[in-house]
Formats: sequence, C-alpha cells, structure tokens
Amino acid sequence: MQPSSTRPFPAFLEGGPKLLYIDGKHVPALSGKTFQTINPATGKVLAEVSQGAAEDIDVAVKAARRAFEGPWSKWRPADRQQVMSRLADLVDRHHDELAMLDTLDLGAPISRTILGRKRAGALLRYYGGLATSTHGETINSSFMPHDSLTYTLKEPVGVVGAINPWNGPIGMAIWKLCPVLASGCTVVLKPAEQTPLSALRLAELCIEAGIPDGVVNVVVGLGDAGAALAEHPGVDKIAFTGSTEVGRKIVRASAGNLKRLSMELGGKSANIVFADANMDIAVAGAAMAVYMNSGQICSAGTRMFVQRPIYDEFVERVAAFAKGIRVGDPLDESTQMGPLVSSEQLDRVCGYLQVGKEQGARALAGGARLTEGALADGYFVPPTLFVDVADDMRIAREEIFGPVAAALAFDDIDEVIARGNDSEYGLGGGVWTRDLNNAHLVAKGLRTGTVWVNCYQVLDPAVPFGGYKMSGFGRESGNEHIQEYFETKAVMVKLDQ
Ligand code: NAP
Ligand code: MG
Repeated sequence: MQPSSTRPFPAFLEGGPKLLYIDGKHVPALSGKTFQTINPATGKVLAEVSQGAAEDIDVAVKAARRAFEGPWSKWRPADRQQVMSRLADLVDRHHDELAMLDTLDLGAPISRTILGRKRAGALLRYYGGLATSTHGETINSSFMPHDSLTYTLKEPVGVVGAINPWNGPIGMAIWKLCPVLASGCTVVLKPAEQTPLSALRLAELCIEAGIPDGVVNVVVGLGDAGAALAEHPGVDKIAFTGSTEVGRKIVRASAGNLKRLSMELGGKSANIVFADANMDIAVAGAAMAVYMNSGQICSAGTRMFVQRPIYDEFVERVAAFAKGIRVGDPLDESTQMGPLVSSEQLDRVCGYLQVGKEQGARALAGGARLTEGALADGYFVPPTLFVDVADDMRIAREEIFGPVAAALAFDDIDEVIARGNDSEYGLGGGVWTRDLNNAHLVAKGLRTGTVWVNCYQVLDPAVPFGGYKMSGFGRESGNEHIQEYFETKAVMVKLDQ
C-alpha cells in the first residue's frame, strides 16, 4: 500500500534510532539496545527506538528529582502559566507533524489525528489557568483562640511517573504533562512501546518552550521500564493509564514507598438506546461510540442496549452505518477508520470474533479480518456488530479493545440499569432518549465515572474523567485532577504572643 498523503513526512523520523529524552538531552539507552516501532497499516518498520530500561529510569528519576529541588517548583504560578501557554503555541504550530507521527505509529486516520489540535491546545491552556487559580484555604479553627490564623498550603507532590497506553499517544502525553507543569511537579513519562514517537517530539517542544531541563523526561521502552518506574523509591506518584491487569501490578509495585496513585483503567461501557430516542442521531452516535479509533478507546460503548420495540430496526441501521464506514489507508484524508495498532491486538480482536461466533452470536456487520487487496498486510478489522448476544457471553463481558459492538435488547429502565451495572468495570456509559426521566434516572443509576446523554465520548479539559470499580480511581481533567498533584499542608498560627 502506497502512502497516499501529500502531507510532509515528519523530519523527526529521519536519521538513526530515536533516543530517550533525559535532563533536556537526547541520550541512547545505557544498554545500547533498541526496538522497532511498526506502521500498523503496512506491517513495516517505521523507526528504530532506544529501549530504555531500569537503569535509564533511574537516571531520569534522579534528573527529575534535581529539577524538582531546583528553582522549578518555586517558580511563580504566572511563570508556569506562561511557559504552558508557549508550549500550547508550539504544539499548535507543530500539530500537523505530531498528528502525522501518531497516524504512522498508531494507524489512526489522519482525518482524526489532525482534529486533536483543538483538544491539545485547550488542555494546556486550561491547566495553565489552574496553575494560577489553585489555592489552599483559610479555616476558622474550632479550637484556636481568636488571635490566630489557620490556613492550608498546596505544595507539589514531587516526582511523577506517568505511564501511558498506545491508543491516543500525543493527546494522552499532553494530558499527563498538564497537571505536572501546572502544579510544579516534574515527570518521567513512559509511553507505550507501540507508539513512542510523538511523546519524544513533545519533549523537544517542552525545552523549546522554556521548561527547564529535567522537568519533563521521556523514557521509551517496554513493560520493564514501566515496572521500574512503579517501584522506584525516588518517585512520589504514579499516574497510570492502561489495562486493569497492569494497573494491579502497579498498585503492588508502588507499595514500597507508598506512592500516590491514580489509575485510568479498562472498561466495558453500556450505551442505552430508548425507543423514544432520535433515531438518526442515536444510530450514528451509538455506532461511533464503538468504532471511533478502531474501537481502541477505554470508554467505548461496546455493550449496546436497545429497547425492544426498536431493536430490529436499530441494529439493521447500525449495521448499515458500520458497512458505510470507510476503512483504509490512514494517510488517505477520506479514511474514517484505520487498522488496529499491532499484530498482537489483531490476534486478540480476531480471537474475540471467533469466541463470539462459537458462543452463538451472529455478525450483522464485519466479523472477520480484512485479508484481501491493499489492506491485507495491515492489521485491519472492519466495524463489527454482533446480535444474538447474551449478557454472559465473553464478548459482552470482557474488554475487546477493537471495533466490536454487542447489541442486547431490553424492556424497561430498572432492568437495563441493573444489567448495565452487571460488570466489573465502571468507566463510561451512555443514554439516548428524549425523556427526562430516562435520561436522569440512568445517569444516577449507572455506577460509572461518566454518563453521556444524547452524545458520547465527549472529553473536556474541565470535566473530570475516570472510573468506578475496576476501571480505576482518581480523575483526570478538571479541578479534581490537579488536586492529586498537590500535598496539602495545614498551618496553625497562634498570634497573641
Ligand atoms: P497496558 O498493556 O496496560 O500498558 C500500558 C502501559 O503500561 C504501557 O506503557 C506498558 O508498557 C506499561 N506496562 C506494561 N507492563 C507494566 C508493568 N508491569 N508495570 C508498569 N508498566 C507496565 O495497556 P495497553 O495495552 O497499552 O492499552 C490498552 C488498555 O489501556 C486497555 O485496557 C484500555 O482500556 C486502557 N486505557 C484506559 C484509559 C482510561 O482513561 N481509563 C485510556 C486509554 C486506555 P508496554 O507498552 O511496553 O507494554
Ligand atoms: Mg501493552
């Protein structure tokens, strides 16, 4: 398959292996080892990358500690805000290149990755605002005399280890950096091995923006690099986004020095369509709630509950919509859905397609890997809709992380809330209806971190996002997020000496 883009190939990809970024410098891994990152649309090697491991994490954590103990954490909030604003400008200016890196590395269509510009800028500017507006409080102490003063100080928590998955590389890297920069912490970021490139480019932009050396370090590598970060006694907090399975390992590994933790984990979200919904909007909305980013989104609405009177018509229309999605070369501007990120992910998703059929489900759209024509070398699975699904089938319970929806019929609201909650996960959820009662009763009834009503997958820098149950704990975005990057110190002053 020939790249069909007229956009410039990123200059960042030229030259030898991509190096780690520690203390403001490009450095090779101490072991000298490298690994390859693959273009999932072609199965071919995209770049050679230094393979950071425990010893590189150690160097990076020490650099981050020095930077934290240097002037940075004492910078005035307005100065941190200004540097974040400069970074926002630089990300905006270089966003085409960052989007292109993600399209080549992840396989997400360029038509989608270029749209990340708006969110990237909005995140950096929102958190720049939080840098200057976050504060402690004064408290009227119950027990101190009148001539006294009691207040709290918000102090940065220290060195943060940020560990990211592969499904939204640049957006996720910026999301992790924002509270670090706004609070005066420092960070060692470990991107996913499948998509290491754009975070390395972002680190260069951080230096160009005037962020001091050592404040932002990027160590790319495999899972052992993440594990070393989770264990390292010099790390004060881990901010993890990834699978529930790895999240558990990190909780255990972080016990040594009782790190602060935030966990953004997996999901199997219920998307509930009532018979009174606006069908035209709900069909597209419910379909894209699953198929966006080839289904590789933690909050994807993969359990599609449809009220019985409209079930047959609705699933037919979602199937028709799915068949109309243009799957293809991610560099083609008209492509709406690209491949899965890796051959491992392809095997995992195809395994679930098989299991679904074996357990009695029927694919009304998709259902098998694309093996013919120009896409045969890439990791392409078309949008798939399963019907004849029972709640206890594996495709209705386990996170597939591919473009696979399971349609389930329901009769009434109490039943659907109970079935929606019958999951170990609790990340997202959706409801499509024109009835206020349905909307708000479902919103209150679902035990999930987000409920979208007549929309889905909307993320906003000001709105907290995160999980209930095994989808994790802690929130990203909004005021709650930045609080996790501060310690609170209480100061009690007796004045009448
Ligand atoms: P993953 O396998 O859990 O990996 C996530 C990150 O952890 C990667 O950087 C990985 O490195 C690293 N890692 C692996 N083993 C580790 C260990 N023992 N200790 C510390 N770090 C370790 O997840 P993924 O396959 O990249 O991403 C898919 C998962 O992420 C899905 O479950 C999805 O639901 C979840 N996710 C959640 C959210 C959310 O906000 N809740 C958002 C996006 C994705 P390697 O890349 O080298 O393996
Ligand atoms: Mg992985």
